[in-house]
Amino acid sequence: MSRVETDIFISGGGIAGLVAAAAFGRAGFSVELAEPAPPAATAEAEGSDLRSTAYLQPARRLLEKAGLWAHLAPHATPLDALRVIDTAGWPPEIRTSREFAARDIGDEPFGWNLPNWLTRKVLTEAIAGMDGVRLRMGVGFAGLVAREAEARIALTCGTRLTARLALACDGRTSPLREAAGIGATTTRYGQKALAFAVTHEMPHGNVSTEIYNSGGAFTLVPLPDVGGQPASAVVWMNDGPRAAGLLRAEPAAFEAEMAARSAHVLGALTLASPRRIWPVITQRARALTAPRVAIAAEAAHVLPPIGAQGLNTSLNDIADLVERAEAAPGEIGSPAMLSGYARARAGDVHARAAVIDAFNRLCRSDHAPIQALRSAGLKAVHDLAPLRRAVMAAGLGPGGRAGLPLRRPRA
Ligand SMILES: Cc1cc2nc3c(=O)[nH]c(=O)nc-3n(C[C@H](O)[C@H](O)[C@H](O)COP(=O)(O)OP(=O)(O)OC[C@H]3O[C@@H](n4cnc5c(N)ncnc54)[C@H](O)[C@@H]3O)c2cc1C
Repeated sequence: MSRVETDIFISGGGIAGLVAAAAFGRAGFSVELAEPAPPAATAEAEGSDLRSTAYLQPARRLLEKAGLWAHLAPHATPLDALRVIDTAGWPPEIRTSREFAARDIGDEPFGWNLPNWLTRKVLTEAIAGMDGVRLRMGVGFAGLVAREAEARIALTCGTRLTARLALACDGRTSPLREAAGIGATTTRYGQKALAFAVTHEMPHGNVSTEIYNSGGAFTLVPLPDVGGQPASAVVWMNDGPRAAGLLRAEPAAFEAEMAARSAHVLGALTLASPRRIWPVITQRARALTAPRVAIAAEAAHVLPPIGAQGLNTSLNDIADLVERAEAAPGEIGSPAMLSGYARARAGDVHARAAVIDAFNRLCRSDHAPIQALRSAGLKAVHDLAPLRRAVMAAGLGPGGRAGLPLRRPRA
């Protein structure tokens, strides 16, 4: 059987894999991507991803470079501020509330929020006509043999490929990572996250709101209006059994619980989508590379859904790989390129995973002294202006503000 030759093979057409395909394609490389599950056509479709992603400034720059941002922008809601609220007890009572404004560190919003199911659909359509990029939807990665100069890939449809670089973007159980012999370490918290959309009485004003209570964060991230009503995407973290009970609860009972949990900051909340449930874990691949293979996105790292870090960290992996390929096109997949990637990304991933792990443990605690520390920490981070700006810039990721027009920080 003849082999298809390509510069880059990508296993997985989730958002990270699709962005990688477009970015490498735009940079002039040939790309083959295999994805067994085509994108959902609507939010209600079976298995659609009801999470949303707040694309931070560096992620937007990559999307622009890949020629994708123009397709996504009409659906994106800017995030001008982040309000963090610390609560205690049930029903939750607000103890501390602080707002972090993007204008404090520059002229741009912190990020732009988009529903995942829609992003995946729009990206797939945008990439379908791109020169040099082939999306094989309904087809999976099935096998890897790594040679010094190439990776030999088998697909579930029987096709065989030869690639200079095989890139794993095939999610937390990554078959390509496994085939490359790379395991992963996983930390479980006994928590689960519910993801869904709501409409609400009060406008969100492009402010994202994180409300802490024992069990974890309750996050409302602005979406475009639904049926003339203001709308937000919600991520609600809880201990596993409580999350499972909420998933099964009748809509009216669920709405009453979530309005109480939100401390009524946006008034009554009405479910506007099905509910999906996700385990909350920290997971890290034991290595980011193997011969002719790079591991990226959730195949490399899974983080608890706090602070919009997960997919943004993944897109930083992709940006790094694309920059290396552009800088030395003849070196794609070489040991030099792969070791540079591993060195550059391991530190950032490790630091983000450590901070979010600690933050999650602090924020879900129901011990009074820890709760007091949480409230005091929020006040300190917000009320000390240099600390506040440093934390906001760090949250945006590597080069968070670089390349974008900045205003002078306020005194
Ligand atoms: C509740 C929740 C909220 C979140 N909110 C945010 C947020 O606001 N901001 C943020 O940055 N991140 C957020 N995240 C994280 C973010 O959603 C994920 O990091 C991201 O969706 C994962 O994308 P991915 O492309 O890496 O993986 P996936 O979306 O899992 O894609 C992997 C793909 O690989 C495919 N695949 C499986 N097997 C094979 C095979 N054999 N061959 C080829 N392909 C295969 C799968 O079908 C899948 O499409 C959140 C996470 C959770 C749980």
